[in-house]
Amino acid sequence: MPLHQSDAIILKTYPLGEADRIVAFFTRDFGKLRGVANGARRMKNRFGVSLEPMAHSRIMFFEKENHDLVRIQSTELLDSPMKLFEDYDRAVFVGHIVELLDRFLPEREPQDPVFRLVRMTARALEQGCSIEFASCYFEIWMLRLAGVFPDMFACSVCSRRLQMEEERFLAPGLQAVICNTCDHRSGVGVLAEVIELLSWILKNRLEIDETGKLAPQPVLAAGMRNLHGLNQYWIRNYSER
Ligand SMILES: [Zn+2]
Repeated sequence: MPLHQSDAIILKTYPLGEADRIVAFFTRDFGKLRGVANGARRMKNRFGVSLEPMAHSRIMFFEKENHDLVRIQSTELLDSPMKLFEDYDRAVFVGHIVELLDRFLPEREPQDPVFRLVRMTARALEQGCSIEFASCYFEIWMLRLAGVFPDMFACSVCSRRLQMEEERFLAPGLQAVICNTCDHRSGVGVLAEVIELLSWILKNRLEIDETGKLAPQPVLAAGMRNLHGLNQYWIRNYSER
């Protein structure tokens, strides 16, 4: 039984018997795994908060032959998740992140860009980024990395690249874009603000800069509302496939 080690983000835990827990965790090096943590249900256990949802922990585990579940040997807490659960809205959003990761990530497939996205979103929240913006940012990148976010900068009919200020339409099913010069009678217009916000999200990181501040985020309320609606549609659509 080889011993492995990887940095991970804890997703969920389930009770197993009297004393143990099953832990779903997203490792940087091995992708999403499930493992048993012996004794993790006891009041005083060696894992502490390192197995709480959204904890950033280094996990040492054994692979067992012919077993889906690994055995968690020990953990080391790298970043406590407790700050993320200090207020209700943040806690709910963090629950949503965990849910999406659990649903979108394939088992045992490393997804380094997603790992970095989760860490960046958690740090931005701790630094005071608004939940609304962080949520929009996270969902768009998550959907994009999962390959379900449509290319809003190319016409699906004539394949032309579209400039930011050009008018465009979403085809029925909301998964393809049609430009102004192609037949777009069946499509619905996309707000300019949606494209403006999307461009910002695709070009900028949600991180503090040299001056110690989060990069200023565009204030585009209508764009945010529309993108939020689209994201929820694509999340549902993906889940049903
Ligand atoms: Zn076109």
